[in-house]
Amino acid sequence: MDQMHPETVAITAGRPESAPGAPLNPSISINSTYTAGGAIGYGRFGNETWVALEDAITRLEHGDSTLAFSSGMAAITAVFSLLPHGAPVVASNQGYSGTMALLKKYHEQGRLEVRFVDIANTKDVFEALMGAAFLWIESPTNPGLEIAEMSLIIGEAKKRNMGVAVDNTFATPLSQLPLELGADISMHSVTKYLAGHSDVILGSLTVKDPALYSRLLEARTLIGSIPGPFEAWLALRGIRTFPLRFNAAQSNAKALVEKLKSHAKITKVRYPGFGAIISFEIDGSADQTDQVCAASKLITNATSLGGVESTWERRRRWPLESETVPVNLIRLSVGCEHHDDMWADINSALAAF
Ligand SMILES: *Cc1c(COP(=O)(O)O)cnc(C)c1O
Repeated sequence: MDQMHPETVAITAGRPESAPGAPLNPSISINSTYTAGGAIGYGRFGNETWVALEDAITRLEHGDSTLAFSSGMAAITAVFSLLPHGAPVVASNQGYSGTMALLKKYHEQGRLEVRFVDIANTKDVFEALMGAAFLWIESPTNPGLEIAEMSLIIGEAKKRNMGVAVDNTFATPLSQLPLELGADISMHSVTKYLAGHSDVILGSLTVKDPALYSRLLEARTLIGSIPGPFEAWLALRGIRTFPLRFNAAQSNAKALVEKLKSHAKITKVRYPGFGAIISFEIDGSADQTDQVCAASKLITNATSLGGVESTWERRRRWPLESETVPVNLIRLSVGCEHHDDMWADINSALAAF
């Protein structure tokens, strides 16, 4: 089954076994407790609906097992909770603002010794890996869309017996399979492309090693960062169309990139050549950038990404966002509307200043 294409896996995975009268879809299991003697004892330890979602993500990510979490940040926290106090960690100096803030906090507290590097600069990454215990990769980075040389840096980290985790939220398993590249953990903010409808907050960790799975399961159980059964069900429902949505959004993004590049009011367009996030800078101030974002009618001026609907925002409107992100940078999450309509909207919004 695992050799099947992601389009097929997305539609077939995590379903109840086929039998006469069996439901086609998994049910939403709403239970806090279970009669003693079975596989699940208590609702924080396990849930049938999580398992269905986890199976689907495992197969999409070419892993052996997955744990769903209450959010992407909960999944990230579980990973770092496994590291001993003061462990040296190498991480991108650019990346999702929540991850950056968490790692900075841990560093200040002495909980971890975080070495922030330009993840796209392989030489710098190699140097930072010396004596380190763990490598955290985000590629493409949010919102700069820098790309790491994944195979090289994962290979080097594994040579040094380090743990490696990859935030695969932006690339998705359709563009990048971290576990195949040698990473120990592939992490998702399921909130984004996998769930895909801007109505769920959820996270996941996929691994190959059963011992690592057990440690992460223990972390989830003890921290209590479990997803709700309904959110898990919604996310699995979203996964059914994930390849369709991602491919449609990606071809929209490709159609828009060239047009954005040739617009007189746009100075820099970042697009890694795959995926559906485009970051660009406008030839104007922070205020003018805010005006542009507020002027769109089709594209919603909102944070988050990976939904069927296009959204954009000026990233530096968030106090947590890194100061290395230009104040006039707009991150556009291209959705599944028609790209001609998006372009008309972008054009008229850019006329706002
Ligand atoms: C959104 C996001 C997260 C955090 O996920 P939540 O589900 O919001 O907790 C982590 N990494 C990346 C790349 C993200 O875009």
